[in-house]
Amino acid sequence: MLIKNGIIVNADGRMSGDLRIKDGKIVKIGEALKAEEAEEILDVNGAYILPGGVDVHTHIDMPAGECMTSDDYSSGTKAAVMGGTTTVMDFAEYDEGETLQDGLDCWHKKAAGKAYCDYSFHMTVSGFDESIKEELARIKEQGITSFKAYTAYQDGIGVNDDQLFLILQQMKELGTLLCVHCENGDVLRCLQQQLKERDASDIKNHPKSRPNLTEKEAVSRVIDFAAMADVPVYIVHVSTKEAAEVIREAKRKGQKVYAETCPQYLLLDESRYELPDFESAKYVLSPPLRTEADKEALWEAVEDGTIDAVSTDHCSFWFHGQKDLGREDFTRIPNGMPGIETRMELMLHYGRKRGLTMEKLTELLSAKPAEIFGIYPEKGKLQEGSDADLVIVREDRPHKISAETLNEEVDYTPYEGFEVTYQIQDVFVGGIQAKKEGGWILKKPEGRFLTCR
Ligand SMILES: [Zn+2]
Repeated sequence: MLIKNGIIVNADGRMSGDLRIKDGKIVKIGEALKAEEAEEILDVNGAYILPGGVDVHTHIDMPAGECMTSDDYSSGTKAAVMGGTTTVMDFAEYDEGETLQDGLDCWHKKAAGKAYCDYSFHMTVSGFDESIKEELARIKEQGITSFKAYTAYQDGIGVNDDQLFLILQQMKELGTLLCVHCENGDVLRCLQQQLKERDASDIKNHPKSRPNLTEKEAVSRVIDFAAMADVPVYIVHVSTKEAAEVIREAKRKGQKVYAETCPQYLLLDESRYELPDFESAKYVLSPPLRTEADKEALWEAVEDGTIDAVSTDHCSFWFHGQKDLGREDFTRIPNGMPGIETRMELMLHYGRKRGLTMEKLTELLSAKPAEIFGIYPEKGKLQEGSDADLVIVREDRPHKISAETLNEEVDYTPYEGFEVTYQIQDVFVGGIQAKKEGGWILKKPEGRFLTCR
């Protein structure tokens, strides 16, 4: 197929021209390309052509306490593609008593034959001993080059300081990257217990039990641990000005630290916890939504390169039927929000409003995350030889975001009523058109597992 008359945008520049895709790859980019015999032509008439979005932080088909996330690989990746994201990197986990391999096998089963876009995994590590150490190497041989640790939730998935340090040393040994969820687990558990005794039904106790400094302290500690282990580290979902400042300072000193934030921390704030009728439960996630000042600081961190990537932490739970479980006890509200489908349009709209260029937005949404996790330039770049994952975007199509029209398998969106002007019009996944003029036309889920370098 020949896609004509687009503004082809990459992180490092743009050109007006045409793009040919064949057998799943981009085979030619140039000006005024001539159609080959019987070649299908799509004239995009001055629209932007961007590399397909790369969302490196999702939780699909994941058990969480008493619940299971509402999206499975079928609905989750369809929603991703409709929103312009053509690669997802999901967190694979294992249960207590299982090996890492059991968890990885389980995640392969969840995704295979159901995913509408290419995918890979970060493997969660929730402890450390000799057998886990050996397993990390074996998991790496299977194309998983990034792992995840939590500095909170020590009663379940989280790790203690000694384990965290040993995992980081092992990352150094293997040349792999650790993603870390940073909150001080001990402090927040104490606060949570105290606040629960006072009033378990008050949702405002959720953010109160996780003040900014629980994040900042953990980010600071993790960065120091990584320095002592002499290894890069990736900080997930940065939500506070204090944590952004710590990361900025570490980068300034030359330490290899990567950081991510999410649209919810750039666009929503703690006033959502004031909503009546349990509505606030929709916004219970960890870390929680913060203040206006934090939002502003995070935008500045995005602008000056302190933040490398914007991912979603998509983790959807039904408002009716799942979030409800915590009506009497805020600690039982499943933590997480949907967002996989809205990331691109929201970030393009609000990013451009902030004055970010399309190139910078492409870097944040596709190129840089692909690079950090070893799938670039097959993903995250429009160039000859790269995968034909591309998104055609119109900038003059104002519309309102609504759960009614989204494909995420959940009964709300945190962005209900947000008006955006950018619209994802067409999406190609591996050279096959999945979205056409706003509608879904893909027949089969043909997403492949990506091995990372
Ligand atoms: Zn997450």
